[in-house]
Amino acid sequence: MGTGVTKPVWPSREYAVYKVFKACDSLVIMESNKSQAREKIEKFFKDPKYRTPEEIRKIKKLAMAYNLKLQDKRKMFCKKCYSTKLITLGIKNKIKRVKCSDCSHVYRWKI
Ligand SMILES: [Zn+2]
Repeated sequence: MGTGVTKPVWPSREYAVYKVFKACDSLVIMESNKSQAREKIEKFFKDPKYRTPEEIRKIKKLAMAYNLKLQDKRKMFCKKCYSTKLITLGIKNKIKRVKCSDCSHVYRWKI
């Protein structure tokens, strides 16, 4: 009947599912495929300096979900706090020492 009264819209099942997906990043991550993930990671690390630790944490999770190797990209951020503010302390005996300026954790990398 044309009463002009619209039915109340209840959150649909799809919406409920969407909410769950939004709440859990890893589920959203699992949705996209591996090549998309690799592309996203490559793009992400073109400008790692402007990324927040939270974004880095997510991208690492994405790489782990697809078993993608970050290799030297791992050296762009701190393992502990995911900060990109790493300071090179010096190179000795082919060992590079890098310090995180946020949590002051020191890393040693073979070069
Ligand atoms: Zn750190």
